[in-house]
Amino acid sequence: MKSFVHVNAQSVEEAVGLLAQYRGGAKLNAGGTDLLGVLKDRILPDYPEAVINIKTIPGLDTIEEDADRIRIGALATLAGISSSPVVNESCPILAEAAGAVAAIQIRNMATIGGNLCQDTRCWYYRYPNEIGGMINCFRKGGKTCPAAAGENQYHAIMGAKKCFAVCPSDTAVALTALGAKLDIAGAAGTRQIPVEEFYTPLGNVLGPDEMITAIDIPKPAHNAGQVFLKFTVRKPIDFALVSVASIITVDEGICTGARIVLGAVAPIPVRALQAEEFLIGKELSPEIAAQAADIALTGAKPLAKNEYKIEIAKTLVKRAIEKSVGKPE
Ligand SMILES: Cc1cc2nc3c(=O)[nH]c(=O)nc-3n(C[C@H](O)[C@H](O)[C@H](O)COP(=O)(O)OP(=O)(O)OC[C@H]3O[C@@H](n4cnc5c(N)ncnc54)[C@H](O)[C@@H]3O)c2cc1C
Repeated sequence: MKSFVHVNAQSVEEAVGLLAQYRGGAKLNAGGTDLLGVLKDRILPDYPEAVINIKTIPGLDTIEEDADRIRIGALATLAGISSSPVVNESCPILAEAAGAVAAIQIRNMATIGGNLCQDTRCWYYRYPNEIGGMINCFRKGGKTCPAAAGENQYHAIMGAKKCFAVCPSDTAVALTALGAKLDIAGAAGTRQIPVEEFYTPLGNVLGPDEMITAIDIPKPAHNAGQVFLKFTVRKPIDFALVSVASIITVDEGICTGARIVLGAVAPIPVRALQAEEFLIGKELSPEIAAQAADIALTGAKPLAKNEYKIEIAKTLVKRAIEKSVGKPE
């Protein structure tokens, strides 16, 4: 690691003030489970001048609820979220997604803010500088994405144009399905945006002086069936090859609400809007679930080595819809 200035921030104002002061030359450190690896392996061309520890900011790790919403501070740990009675009661897909991340040692350290903002896991992007030099891929300002014609078995099957890395965050998939919003603080003030609008093909919409401070989640209807499914190569400690989060409401046998989100298939979590629309007004059956799954993957354009992801994604969507119907009305 190279040396850098280290500051233990005492408030959000101090943290965003420092981000503004360093003009993109500072990095926030929450649990450090992603950032420290990125710095140690020197995978990025620019090394931060300063690392701002935000774990020292009091009051950002709470999980609170009122009648309609849950609010989770950006520093709440994934372990805390997965075991929270409040989250398990109203948003079980978030508890499951948080609990499906890595291993307990990492979940004890990792925060929800860091999980949403973690860097991509593409093996070309992550190629360590110490082993033959970093790869200057499109995401790092280079001209091409080596995955496009290379080892692309874990890469995007939809929605990618220049960079085929997928969004690695499990909680982003659940939070998109839940229609959650992010509270963002910056040097110029605060704003709130839906998680659905947070990700961009090469990262997220945070400005260089901004940070996430909280997640605001509307509680789904009590009769909505929530399902989170994650397909991995290994059971423990593995990123999703494909994940699906769905929230489906059935009234008197008919589907009246559907949100279906696919993870690890694109640079951003993908809402299967056409499949959602297809389900509304239908009586849900295995055949309808299979048709919706086909519709959800209609736009997929696999690379040479990842066509298999399409079948996995279809199966997960179908299973998620079927499991949702098992919930009490
Ligand atoms: C072995 C291993 C397996 C893993 N498996 C999975 C998995 O299956 N699914 C999954 O989703 N993840 C997985 N991860 C990634 C892991 O979830 C992330 O490392 C973790 O969630 C990051 O949280 P953190 O608090 O440690 O973030 P940090 O490492 O502190 O920060 C990560 C990034 O987010 C930024 N950041 C942190 N907090 C904020 C904030 N509040 N506002 C703005 N920016 C912020 C930092 O500047 C940094 O760029 C795995 C990681 C490892 C090491």
